[in-house]
Amino acid sequence: MGFPVSYYCPHCGAVVELERDGYLADKSVTPYPLEGWAYADPTDDFEDTEGVRFVCGEGEREGEGEGESDSPLSWTGDVVDADDVERPGLASPCGREFYLSFVRYEDGREVEAVPERDYVVIGGRGPSGPAGPGGPNAGPRGPGGF
Ligand SMILES: [Zn+2]
Repeated sequence: MGFPVSYYCPHCGAVVELERDGYLADKSVTPYPLEGWAYADPTDDFEDTEGVRFVCGEGEREGEGEGESDSPLSWTGDVVDADDVERPGLASPCGREFYLSFVRYEDGREVEAVPERDYVVIGGRGPSGPAGPGGPNAGPRGPGGF
């Protein structure tokens, strides 16, 4: 059983309700996929993955006669007028993709997304301590160096 959680499209502000389990922790909703995250469709068992790929305006249950579609999506028809909506004047729903990312953990630590140019990094300190398995320099690291 889940409960509906509202998100909005970062392109046009269209509001969607997604029914999902409560134990998942949201990380962010972005107009692009985070590097290293795997995304599922809303109709898949996204609770086993790391995020959900939306297509703005798509995925709502259709055809109520044919049994019950179990799409967890419901577009409310509302449009958010938030500061971070890319183009508030865009026709809505806009049909573009956006991505809900869940918080991921590795070895008990929250995994940080690779920062985009305009991505605000929350929390200052990068990971420290010995490098994990995977050899030297297994990927981009935070500042700290040497
Ligand atoms: Zn949209």
